[in-house]
Amino acid sequence: MAEIVLDGVTKRFADGTVAVQALDLRIADGEFVILVGPSGCGKSTTLNMIAGLEPISDGELRIDGTRVNERAPRDRDIAMVFQSYALYPHLTVRENIGFPLRLAKTDKAEAARRIAEAARILDISDLLDRRPAHLSGGQRQRVAMGRAIVRDPKAFLMDEPLSNLDAKLRVQMRTMISRLQNRLGTTTVYVTHDQTEAMTLADRIVLLDKGEVQQIGTPDELYRTPVNLFTAGFIGSPAMNLLPAHVEAGALHSPLGEIPLTSRLHAALDAHRASREVVLGIRPEAFEDARISRPSQQGELLSFTARTDIVESLGAEKFAYLNLPDTRKADLFQSAAPQLVARLDADSPARENEPLDLVYDPDALHLFAPDTGRSLT
Ligand code: ATP
Repeated sequence: MAEIVLDGVTKRFADGTVAVQALDLRIADGEFVILVGPSGCGKSTTLNMIAGLEPISDGELRIDGTRVNERAPRDRDIAMVFQSYALYPHLTVRENIGFPLRLAKTDKAEAARRIAEAARILDISDLLDRRPAHLSGGQRQRVAMGRAIVRDPKAFLMDEPLSNLDAKLRVQMRTMISRLQNRLGTTTVYVTHDQTEAMTLADRIVLLDKGEVQQIGTPDELYRTPVNLFTAGFIGSPAMNLLPAHVEAGALHSPLGEIPLTSRLHAALDAHRASREVVLGIRPEAFEDARISRPSQQGELLSFTARTDIVESLGAEKFAYLNLPDTRKADLFQSAAPQLVARLDADSPARENEPLDLVYDPDALHLFAPDTGRSLT
């Protein structure tokens, strides 16, 4: 059992900076929770407070029901894995992995057994006699994980463990971490600024901005039902398209043309007594090239035409960037005319600088209040 509870946890630095503001979070035993958000949002500070490396200014941190605010890091029974690996260069892989066991004066035979087991799980058994200087980045990171595993701690804390690796290795290590989590089932709190990493690894994501929680939920919840513009823009790649629109005579007037209000959109606008101005959100993957859209769906779909700017072909898919008409009544010179990105099937014949017919399901539309950023749908 290793439940971690943050109850109104706040971090105020000596210079007055509030890095984390009244964070409430209950991490269940065995759960893999990822703290994600842009640089400076308070991810590392939160992790450091859980680890005991940073004092908590306000609120309470409980591990398995016991307040641990004042407890020293070594007495919290949690293992931390850093981006920098923090390996001892003069020790072999075996000695690095076994280091915490030596400190804990673990019986030699038992230590050897645990080191062999960790090395086997991490697939580094044949590297045990090497020193860190003779390892690749990915291998070093696995040694750092091995050192965390052998302790069999109550929880793992990981701070951007993959950010020093190249893109291909990051994907490999991601699947390794998933396997590790399935196998060990240890409560894990993991920090990253990479939303793909968060989406693929987490049981639940905590999305932070400027020290405050924006949304907590499963990756699917954050993707499907973002509660505000910040989540909508942060989760998903390419990001959700956000367009100005206004409600008039039972329709949404937007750069996608006139969109009849479905009962779902009607209800959303009514419930929130929204003003006539809204922000319309639609994901790039919600669009299809009308020429290759499956006919069975055609009836339910809405369509519009716009001129392509750039079309990027990525092999398995295409990203089409379209210039949209500016339907705002306000000053046209304040910002550039709206652009939209559509993520299309590789079979789409879309090309640069020509009219493109796109279709989409109106159920894929999100509405947000422009003043508060809150989702209306
Ligand atoms: P990154 O992804 O860049 O590592 P982060 O989300 O981990 O960012 P933190 O390192 O937790 O962010 O920092 C949160 C905020 O606290 C930032 O505004 C940072 O400048 C501030 N901060 C961090 N350490 C201190 C400190 N010792 N004194 C004052 N402010 C600090």
